[in-house]
Amino acid sequence: MPLNTSEKPSAINIYQLFKSQHPTSLNWRTASVEERIVRLKKIRTWIKDHQQDIRDALRKDFNKPEPETDLTEIFPVTSEINHAIKNLKKWMRPKSVSTPLPMLGTTAKIHLEPKGTSLIISPWNYPFNLTIGPLISAIAAGCTAMIKPSEMTPYTSELISRMISELFSENEVAVCLGEVEVSQALLKLPFDHIFFTGSPAVGKIVMKAAAEHLTSVTLELGGKSPVIIDADADLKDAAEKLIWGKYVNCGQTCIAPDYILAHESVYEALISEMKVALQKMYDPAFKGIDHSPDMARIVNNKHFQRLINYVEEAVSKGGEIAFGGKSDSKTNYIEPTILTNVSDDMLVMQEEIFGPLFPMIPYTTLDEAIRYVNSKPKPLALYYFGKNSEKSAKVLQETSSGNVVVNDCVIHFLHMELPFGGVNNSGIGKAHGFHGFLAFSNEKGVLKQRVGLNNVTLLRPPYGIKAKQIIASLIKWF
Ligand code: NAD
Repeated sequence: MPLNTSEKPSAINIYQLFKSQHPTSLNWRTASVEERIVRLKKIRTWIKDHQQDIRDALRKDFNKPEPETDLTEIFPVTSEINHAIKNLKKWMRPKSVSTPLPMLGTTAKIHLEPKGTSLIISPWNYPFNLTIGPLISAIAAGCTAMIKPSEMTPYTSELISRMISELFSENEVAVCLGEVEVSQALLKLPFDHIFFTGSPAVGKIVMKAAAEHLTSVTLELGGKSPVIIDADADLKDAAEKLIWGKYVNCGQTCIAPDYILAHESVYEALISEMKVALQKMYDPAFKGIDHSPDMARIVNNKHFQRLINYVEEAVSKGGEIAFGGKSDSKTNYIEPTILTNVSDDMLVMQEEIFGPLFPMIPYTTLDEAIRYVNSKPKPLALYYFGKNSEKSAKVLQETSSGNVVVNDCVIHFLHMELPFGGVNNSGIGKAHGFHGFLAFSNEKGVLKQRVGLNNVTLLRPPYGIKAKQIIASLIKWF
């Protein structure tokens, strides 16, 4: 029953595989820092040795440009590995906590123990990064893993399956390829942790399934990440950063800037700068952006049609195309398209766009922009561009989102010291670096008492006057 192959697993062998990981997960509890580092290093070596294979798979899946694969699929993973190797000893060390007065005489520490057997379900949009990234956290934390990559990027998923079969035995890490049924079969099992990256709709399904076994979850979800461009923003700088952040991976990024709220005084000028930036980055020879080797394609025709429908529906309701609008269904190409005169009754302002459409809305006061953001579900990321620190502080305080970037976008994904993730509709739990390690660890509080001594000796029944006085003073003073 080799599952680390392209073979599609049945519910029965998924269960057998799950059972086979249990003894390994118990065994891995006692693994030293060095043993975990060996596992991380062999993943890193495989990636370095197979960089071209990874690029080829992504190119075949949705024409992802090689430099983008290097930057957004390989670099974040190698950086995650290097960061874990460097810090693992510190992360694994039990942390002493101070002793509160009523606990005098005891010592206490927090031990981070591996949760056990984990499940990683990943999406198609950064199929290598978002599968292997969480695996690094799982391995660093000492967990075994079953992995379900996306069926929508078959070349990368096959490659991941091959990679894992070359690096691990199935009772350590296993890849289960297949469609939604495979995911559903996996979700029936009592994993110790589920790390899911995908849409809020499927996140709810995952959380319901996890509730059945009271399995902990990390849900890395999506949604509409807004941009606020204030009146004093550097427009050229903002436009260039936004065009890169939006069009890397052809807009198919969970933290892509989804729509722009621009102060009315800079609205038109920002659009002009965005056109200039698009031309400069993707069409310097004026041949058309479809000729750019640096623009990925929409992952499949279903998503192509979904996006075309957003544009057509917006235009039918009065939306205007300020730039772009061309498409080619044969190659799933959609030109970067800036939409103006959009309103809340349009799909493009209701659904996560996840593609190269950029709607723009003018605002008059910052309070109005903040109210707009707060009228929507809490986003995964919020981007504020402006020079006034009081105004950026106001935006930080008066809105809620998984992450905020001031005067840039998207790049926070690469900051290994920051927790990455959403809040409510955009996610539960955090990833990256120590925060990812923590997701796969149980924070076990360990208290040590001296033999024979016990702080509560005087508080045992029968409760006499002394005990009552001590309890009263505990409530009063502690
Ligand atoms: P998706 O939710 O459709 O699928 C994700 C995974 O879940 C896939 O492996 C799929 O096979 C599985 N799945 C799909 N339907 C299922 C079901 N009914 N039951 C069980 N499993 C099921 O997401 P997607 O289309 O692959 O990715 C796009 C979404 O992911 C966007 O919303 C995006 O914002 C989000 N995303 C979030 C992050 C993040 O880090 N927060 C990163 C990338 C993508």
